[in-house]
Amino acid sequence: MRSQPVSIVGAGLAGPLLAILLARRGFEVTLYERRPDPRQRAPQAGRSINLALAARGMRALERAGILERVRPLILPMRGRMVHESDREPTLLPYGQRPAELIYSVGRGALNRLLVEEAARHAAVSLRFEHTCLGVRGPQHALEVVDAAGRHVETSSGPVIASDGAGSAVRLALAGCALMTWREAPLDHDYKELYLPPRDGDFALAPQALHVWPRHGFMLIALPNTDRSFTATLFLARSGAPSFAALDTRAAVERFFAEQFPDAAALLPDVAAQFAAHPQGRLGTVQCAPWHVGGEFLLLGDAAHAIVPFHGQGMNAAFEDCLLLDELSERHTRWAELFAAFEQQRRPDTQAIARMAIENYAEMRAGVLEARFLRQQLWARELERLYPGRFVPRYAMVMFHPEIPYAEAERRGAVQQQILDALDARSGGAQRLDQALARQLIEQRL
Ligand code: FAD
Repeated sequence: MRSQPVSIVGAGLAGPLLAILLARRGFEVTLYERRPDPRQRAPQAGRSINLALAARGMRALERAGILERVRPLILPMRGRMVHESDREPTLLPYGQRPAELIYSVGRGALNRLLVEEAARHAAVSLRFEHTCLGVRGPQHALEVVDAAGRHVETSSGPVIASDGAGSAVRLALAGCALMTWREAPLDHDYKELYLPPRDGDFALAPQALHVWPRHGFMLIALPNTDRSFTATLFLARSGAPSFAALDTRAAVERFFAEQFPDAAALLPDVAAQFAAHPQGRLGTVQCAPWHVGGEFLLLGDAAHAIVPFHGQGMNAAFEDCLLLDELSERHTRWAELFAAFEQQRRPDTQAIARMAIENYAEMRAGVLEARFLRQQLWARELERLYPGRFVPRYAMVMFHPEIPYAEAERRGAVQQQILDALDARSGGAQRLDQALARQLIEQRL
């Protein structure tokens, strides 16, 4: 396999990490990215976009030997800081051990660092402003053009597509009837807004992911290392309230003042930001197969983009890279490696896609319900009483990379049945019935 250079399309988050992992295993890699080189771009003030990094992503970064270099870019978040309309914000911790944290990281800074680290490897060639147009000819040769629109020579080795949710490679292979795909669009869009520091410091408590749940929609905010926050509004495209209804300056100002008064006071000229920033679409991509023999493999968002409500898309993409890296040790042919990857990984990505959708309802509405809060307390108590046996689903996904997503979903469903059974017998009381809990856990878990 090492005699064939690998082409990777897309140097976003997964592409450069995979290049590092493959280079460490002795593969030669060429990375094609349509955007300019991030190492030569000044960071844009006031336009930071951030992501939640959790244990799965961190494990992959560690295996690539770069976690320590990523650490200065990340900020811990201990839990959800829930802002209800009529009371002081409350912190709902994500975990119950000191290490059970998730981290906010700027997408631009992380992308730049990954590219810098990939560039350290002599076996990695980076080609920025090189756009993949698709594939051509009976051999399905990769078609790439440079900034001047000239076709460039590409290797005949395997192609790994990490070119994101709108993957050009996926579209091209589907066009040749080599795979099929579909996107289930969410009827809610998103918009990012800049929340600057106040008097040189964080304007909101820094060690939290802030959420303003409003049942049908929500605002969230994650901290940045420059002490600003990036806020994101998730809202229906049409109807009332919706992005379509926020069509004038006055409507935007009124909406924020009524729905998120504390956040509105911290968002400078929210109507101008609202008009200037793009409205993004969200959806779940399903595609099959992910590979064509040993010639092509899709991974990350190109294969399985998900909605962002579990903060796992990047983490899953990094975990893909790690799995491919581990499997490469056991296989001697690309076709076998790609098939083994797809077979093992598909059920897990399907599970996280479902859990991500479910988490939207939890974040925008569940956290406001007494039943949810009661069950969350019980789940934590049961984790203390039955460590390793009863682990809240959120914790399995975010803090336990050794538990595959599909297993987290399966165990999470059994645990939910136990919590519901306890709830049905509680009459709304807060106290956990430990005897019944023991009986249910011994029977079902
Ligand atoms: P990308 O990061 O999208 O990279 C694809 C790369 O391919 C890009 O650099 C692009 O320029 C390049 N490219 C595209 N087409 C071509 C072409 N034709 N030729 C050459 N290059 C091309 N995930 C988390 O884990 N935690 C979060 O908190 C989180 N929050 C999110 C919030 C929002 C609003 C959204 C939309 C997503 C969020 N995600 C989050 C998901 C995360 O952004 C993606 O899962 C992740 O970026 C996937 O990485 P990737 O490398 O597969 O694709």
